[in-house]
Amino acid sequence: MLVIMKNDATEAQVQAVVREIEALGYQGIPIPGAQRTAVCVVGNKGPVEDSRLLALDGVKETIPVTKPYKLVSRETHPESTIISIGDVKVGGDKPVIMAGPCAVESEEQALTIAHLVKKYGASIFRGGAFKPRTSPYSFQGLGGEGLKILRKVREETGLLVVTEATDHSNIDIVEKYADIIQIGARNMQNYSLLRRAGNASKPILLKRGFAATIDELLMSAEYIMSEGNTQVILCERGIRTFSDNMRNTLDLSAIPSIKEVSHLPIVVDPSHAAGLREYVIPLSKGAIAVGADGLLVEVHHDPLRALSDGMQSLYPKQFEKLMEEIKSLHR
Ligand code: PEP
Ligand code: MN
Repeated sequence: MLVIMKNDATEAQVQAVVREIEALGYQGIPIPGAQRTAVCVVGNKGPVEDSRLLALDGVKETIPVTKPYKLVSRETHPESTIISIGDVKVGGDKPVIMAGPCAVESEEQALTIAHLVKKYGASIFRGGAFKPRTSPYSFQGLGGEGLKILRKVREETGLLVVTEATDHSNIDIVEKYADIIQIGARNMQNYSLLRRAGNASKPILLKRGFAATIDELLMSAEYIMSEGNTQVILCERGIRTFSDNMRNTLDLSAIPSIKEVSHLPIVVDPSHAAGLREYVIPLSKGAIAVGADGLLVEVHHDPLRALSDGMQSLYPKQFEKLMEEIKSLHR
């Protein structure tokens, strides 16, 4: 349920509503908005008896939230959320491009790619230091060394960095070095990791699991938000279907569906969906056309020698072409 405050309600009146909700045995989370402040009631299993809340000063009305996710829902927060990180705005009127290698392999590799993607218009550098790999014998990432390289990339290029925390053993250090903490597809329903992400001081990029429904993705975002971190960026990265023409099936229908029910920004990763670089540009254009707030794209200066996901990594010249094409499309 949402308790909608009157336009002229004071902060003290909002706090009185929070206290009354707590007295009823639930939690009250104030959600300031451009039009009005609402207080979201969470922790209730069924309908909430609202007569005591309606009697409080400054309360306009109560409205039920029909979705199982509340903080994530557009019913709770009608305006689309814009996440500001430095000068970059995710969810604003310009798509945000996050680009870089699958994995950080060396300082030279990361810096070479970072300078190139910056030149062509990316504002965030991606690169895994801790890599979740299907095979235990594959390259697992440089770990802490990789994070130090990402710091150097940030200092030398001014690009923000997004990198994955794969478990509780590395989320503290990732939080220290990253501008955005990525929670990967394999961890989308790792609820204890989501709760930890909800206590992080940095925005979270939450990738859709490859067998997860949209409601499950949104419930995972709710885990993060319910712990207090409201800076969540969703990411569609392809799901498993019976189609085997690409590595995964990019579910572009998720973007308008999610925009209808949630205020959170959503970006698209065409690389892990495609599996092959030649499909990355058309999928990216589709993503921008259906209203994605940005892209997460793998780019490598020497993809044939990449230690992971070389086949789906764009050559820098292809990335340049992608940037040109989406610019005109967005316009
Ligand atoms: C990644 O982006 O580095 C990655 C491992 O992607 P996903 O979790 O979507 O497989
Ligand atoms: Mn990858």
